[in-house]
Amino acid sequence: MSPAQVYLSLGSNQGEKRSLLQEAVKGLNDFEKSRVLKVSTLYETKAWGKTDQDDFYNLVLLMETELEPLELLDRTQALEIKLGRVRHEHWGPRTIDIDLLLYEDIEILEPRLTLPHRHMLQRRFVLEPLAEIAPGLCLHKQNIKHYIEVLKDEPIRKIGPLF
Ligand code: AMP
Repeated sequence: MSPAQVYLSLGSNQGEKRSLLQEAVKGLNDFEKSRVLKVSTLYETKAWGKTDQDDFYNLVLLMETELEPLELLDRTQALEIKLGRVRHEHWGPRTIDIDLLLYEDIEILEPRLTLPHRHMLQRRFVLEPLAEIAPGLCLHKQNIKHYIEVLKDEPIRKIGPLF
């Protein structure tokens, strides 16, 4: 079986944000039967949902993996815990957040795992880095850039390379 191509979104708004994201990318690359192929620029974003907290650093990456979607989610959640994520409140501060955006063109609609990610088309901090590493990507027969054009949320700032 050839590996699946998977896009993930990573964010951090607590502690050493850049080094946490670097550790997360290395951790993903170390997953069995997996390899990180592309990493976007780092972006700085105002907190989404709850605004009275520190700004986020965000990026999107492409990896290939032979892990199944739920196996991959198990591992990303274990990595979040390893990197010190403590769940206090929904949309509250977090050391590291790892979301699965797209797993090939698989569709799953379960509370534990929704694919494509249920909020991805509303989030500039997902769509802009995604368009950067996958400019030809289409979702529901529309290019990803179409979804950026219709967003009404605030601009985000490109910081530069993660490493
Ligand atoms: P959050 O606190 O926003 O990171 O939400 C985490 C919860 O969303 C976990 O319980 C996951 O099982 C669930 N979830 C559903 N779909 C996804 C997805 N595509 N990527 C990551 N977590 C997901």
